[in-house]
Amino acid sequence: MDLYEYQGKELFRRYGIPVSEGRLATTPEEARDVAEELGGQVVVKAQVLTGGRGKAGGVELAENAAEAEDKARGILGLDIRGHVVRKLWIERASEIAKEYYLSVTFDRGEKKALFMLTTEGGVEIEEVAERDPGAIARLHVDPFEGFQPYQARRLIYGAGIDDPGEQKQILQIVGRLYQAFVGCDAMLCEINPLIVTPEGEVKALDSKFTVDDNALYKHQDIAEMRDLEAYPPQERAAREKGVTYVKLDGEVGILGNGAGLVMSTLDVIALAGGRPANFCDLGGGGDAQGVVDALEIIASDPQVKSILFNIFGGITRCDEVARGILQALGQMQIDHPIVVRLDGTNAEEGRALLQEADAPIDVEPTMLDAAKRAVELAP
Ligand code: GDP
Ligand code: MN
Repeated sequence: MDLYEYQGKELFRRYGIPVSEGRLATTPEEARDVAEELGGQVVVKAQVLTGGRGKAGGVELAENAAEAEDKARGILGLDIRGHVVRKLWIERASEIAKEYYLSVTFDRGEKKALFMLTTEGGVEIEEVAERDPGAIARLHVDPFEGFQPYQARRLIYGAGIDDPGEQKQILQIVGRLYQAFVGCDAMLCEINPLIVTPEGEVKALDSKFTVDDNALYKHQDIAEMRDLEAYPPQERAAREKGVTYVKLDGEVGILGNGAGLVMSTLDVIALAGGRPANFCDLGGGGDAQGVVDALEIIASDPQVKSILFNIFGGITRCDEVARGILQALGQMQIDHPIVVRLDGTNAEEGRALLQEADAPIDVEPTMLDAAKRAVELAP
C-alpha cells in the first residue's frame, strides 16, 4: 500500500524524522486559510500516488495566503499521469541549500534491507544511477544483526558528506528511518529531497512510503490511511470481497484457479492474438459465491468483451466448479460471451454439466482452443 506524502510525513514525524509543519486542504479556500494560519511563504503540493509532481506542475511556492489560494485552484483537478489531484498538502516553505537523497528498501537478492544515500538528490534516483552510479552510497543491514550506528557512519562517509553538523543529523535520521521501515513493515521509505537549509538544518522535504499489504493487520492506524476513492470501483469491490483482482488493458476478462494457471492464461490469450482486460484468481475454491464475486468484478469492467474461465481441477473437482459456475449464472445477469476450459479431476463430468445446462457458455477442451474462442468473441 502506497501512502500519500502527507501520510508518510506523519509517520516520519512519529519516528522523530524532521519534517515541515503543514496541513491538508481540499479546496482553494481551505488552502488560503491554512496558508494564513501557517504564515509567510508556503508550498502547495498535489497529493497523488505518483512521483515527479514538481515537474508536472503539482508543487508550487506561494508568497502569501492569496497566492496559495490561486496556486491551489490551479493544482486541484490537475491530471498527473492519470492521477487527478483532489487533495493538497500545504506546508511552511523551506529554504534549500542542498538536496540529498536517502532511502531504505528491500534488496531481495541479498535478503537484506538496503540503504541508499547520495548528495545528488531532487532528481529520480534511477537518473542518478544511470548518470553517476558512483555517487550513490549503499549499505545493507543484516536483519539478524540489526542496525548499528557505525554502519550509518560508513554510509554517510561513502556519500561524501563531510560537514560534521550534517553528519550528526543524518546519522540520527538514518537510524530513525530504519526504525520507521521495520516498525511499519514498510517495503520502501524514500526521502527525496532530504534537504539542508542555509542554516545547516537537515529535514525531509518529501516522502515516499510503501507498507507491506500483508502486514497491515498489525497496523490498524496505517490500514485506515487507505484512500478508497483513489481506486477504481472494481478494485474496491475486490478488496472488500477478498478477491484477487488485477486490472489490465485488453478485452478478455479472465478467471482462473491458482496464480500459475492464471499467468499462463494471460500468455495463451496473447498467443491467440488477444489481450487480457483483467483477471481474478479463484484460488483453490470454485464455490458459487466465489464465482459470483469474481464474475461481478470482472464483468463490471467496461473494457471486458468476453470472459474466459480457465479451471484445472486438482483438489477442487471440475464438477464442483461447473456447478459453481451454473449457480453463479443463475444468480446474476451476464451479457458477455463466456468460454470455459475445464480439465483435471472429473473434467468430463464438469464439461457435461455445462454443456447440458441451458446457459450461454462455450465449452472448449484445451486451454489454447478456449483462448482462441474467447479472443474471437471479443472483437
Ligand atoms: P516530487 O516532484 O513529486 O518528487 O515532489 P517533491 O516534494 O520532491 O518536490 C519537488 C521539488 O520542489 C523539490 O525537489 C524541491 O526542489 C521543490 N520544493 C518542494 N518543497 C519546497 C520548499 O519548501 N521550498 C523550496 N524552495 N522548494 C521546494
Ligand atoms: Mn520528491
